[in-house]
Amino acid sequence: MPRIQVLPDQLVNQIAAGEVVERPANALKEMLENSLDAGSQSLHIELLNGGTKLIKIVDDGCGIARDELPLALHRHATSKIASFDDLQRVATLGFRGEGLASIASVSRLTLTSRYQDASHAWRVEADHGHLGEIEPAALSLGTTIEVHELYHQLPARRKFLKSDATEFAHCAEMVKRLALANPGKQFTLLHNGRPQLRLAPGDLARRAGELLGEEFVSSGIAVNEGFGPLRLFGITGNPTLGKSSRDAQYFFVNGRYVRDKVIQHALREAYRDVLHHDRHAAYCLFLELDPESVDVNVHPTKIEVRFRESQAVYRFLLTSLTKALSATRAGAAATVPQ
Ligand code: ADP
Ligand code: MG
Repeated sequence: MPRIQVLPDQLVNQIAAGEVVERPANALKEMLENSLDAGSQSLHIELLNGGTKLIKIVDDGCGIARDELPLALHRHATSKIASFDDLQRVATLGFRGEGLASIASVSRLTLTSRYQDASHAWRVEADHGHLGEIEPAALSLGTTIEVHELYHQLPARRKFLKSDATEFAHCAEMVKRLALANPGKQFTLLHNGRPQLRLAPGDLARRAGELLGEEFVSSGIAVNEGFGPLRLFGITGNPTLGKSSRDAQYFFVNGRYVRDKVIQHALREAYRDVLHHDRHAAYCLFLELDPESVDVNVHPTKIEVRFRESQAVYRFLLTSLTKALSATRAGAAATVPQ
């Protein structure tokens, strides 16, 4: 039996990368969430070959100070929480401090950033976790991050990647989720030099119209319900326009796209009597609640949540949705709350 030994950081990060960055779309999500947490108003994304060759993000957020650039790539280093108490009420999209470290361990990454009032920007490169020197760079504001050749040096992982077209579709879906959750921010997406999305800042109705179709918005039902600390708002699909697939179901908890059994159950129940049994509802709904009453630290990708009082959440969702659905008159247009 070999002796027990502590694994080198590089290997630890690569193991974590298997969970956090399954494919380019997950790396893209981690980086876009960082840009949003940094207060960016504009997020520009460039991809080559479905993100396998290059994922580049240009943001206009607060930036990272020179001395903190290596820390940004260090595992379990974060500016978002500092204590267990903070973890109980996380309000940012990130907090685990492992996104960039994981990505940097399985790619060639360049991080260029200009911190708020700094006189110029700085850049650091990491080649499969090995950091280079910090060098001065030119950048007018925010952070630009480039991830080259994700998983190229890890054949075991690389072979799980699908065609460029499929990887791009996953990336585009990720951008769609984040863009729906942040209609006030500008998003642009280029793939292999070709523009794919250009979303100007606006309200939810406009953003949903651009991403989910004008018909979804014009025939949809506006939801705006509150009960104590719980609030549900957004647009839920007109049952007469049920879809044959579940691909237009977007639910966000405190601004985070999630998939959750309690939520799905409430939606199914609410639509049960109004939707034909083989059709699926389309929806773009936002649940807001006290961060302390939901645990987002369930899985490294944070797509799952646990509600502290799931029965209360279920009842609130079912009541709100049933009310919204019964209040519709055929053809009534949605007025979406801001
Ligand atoms: P987390 O988001 O969980 O804190 P990450 O590894 O994704 O962990 O990022 C580490 C840190 O790097 C963040 O806490 C943040 O301070 C900084 N950072 C990363 N990306 C950006 C960005 N685009 N703008 C400003 N700061 C950033
Ligand atoms: Mg992060």
